[in-house]
Amino acid sequence: MTKLGDWIEPHPHGIYIPAADAWIDPSRPSPRALVTHGHADHARGGHGAVWATRATLAIMDVRYGPQPGQPVDYGERVDFGAVTARFVPAGHVLGSAQIVLEHRGETVVISGDYKRRPDPTCAPFEPVKCDVFITEATFGLPVFRHPATGGEIDKLLRALHANPDRCVLVGAYALGKAQRLIRELRDRGHDAPIYLHGAMEKLCALYVAHGVDLGDLRTVAGADKADLTGKIIVAPPSALTDVWSRRLPDPITAMASGWMRVRQRAVQRGVELPLILSDHADWDELTATLIEIAPKEVWVTHGRDDALVHWCMTRQIKARALAVTVYEDEDD
Ligand SMILES: [Zn+2]
Ligand SMILES: [Zn+2]
Repeated sequence: MTKLGDWIEPHPHGIYIPAADAWIDPSRPSPRALVTHGHADHARGGHGAVWATRATLAIMDVRYGPQPGQPVDYGERVDFGAVTARFVPAGHVLGSAQIVLEHRGETVVISGDYKRRPDPTCAPFEPVKCDVFITEATFGLPVFRHPATGGEIDKLLRALHANPDRCVLVGAYALGKAQRLIRELRDRGHDAPIYLHGAMEKLCALYVAHGVDLGDLRTVAGADKADLTGKIIVAPPSALTDVWSRRLPDPITAMASGWMRVRQRAVQRGVELPLILSDHADWDELTATLIEIAPKEVWVTHGRDDALVHWCMTRQIKARALAVTVYEDEDD
């Protein structure tokens, strides 16, 4: 008797599909790579050929130089030998996709990273019925319940308006989080210029080129202290404590991350204003997604796999943790 999904080979450095001779999100250079999205723990340079959405390929071009890219549209079918692949929105960052594989009458969905709450900068997650759902579990513990986005954005705006002589310096990952934060601020009516650390510029320009309006963006490099007073400045998390930040007018240090739920992480980074804003599904979204999709089996790739596997077992859903290497995500 064949086992469900036994044509899928999980390895520490990616998921290999022998019948397609292709890897999903390989962390080593591979002749044929299917890439779910542009974050560095999923998209690496140096592959022989890369199948990904146009936006993901554009992100990889920015980060690694021109890619041997094979652009795939959402919903388009691509055949790899006897395996058919389809890219479906994952709601994680611009261009992010779940990869739906069909082979031997079975459907396997590799979710990559995903979230379920609305994100004005990317297409929403699309649930696909399948036999095996391969899921992440970055926030796979019941303590992780992300609060409503609007409330976190309001916290930031309140701090800004209550301190007109200071500025708010927000640490946010350069791909996805930064652009979502800016777009959410615009949607809450904040139309003042927002200043960017140099490391943010290219990816913000890429989002704008892909139709995400981010409003009036300026660079810190060309600004003086008077320009920056009373303004929001977005920088990579590593810049928060860098000498770079000394040029800013008495910054209130904030950070936008799902990990800001953990008080200790905020303290470690010297964050005065933690903003819980995540691009990953929280516990409720993970479990609601499994109930909605109702796969025959759940395989958990990275994150806190134990709790989610246990939850599945209590629901009579067959589940197992895969030995895919746990990277320190650049995206949270
Ligand atoms: Zn990601
Ligand atoms: Zn990831």
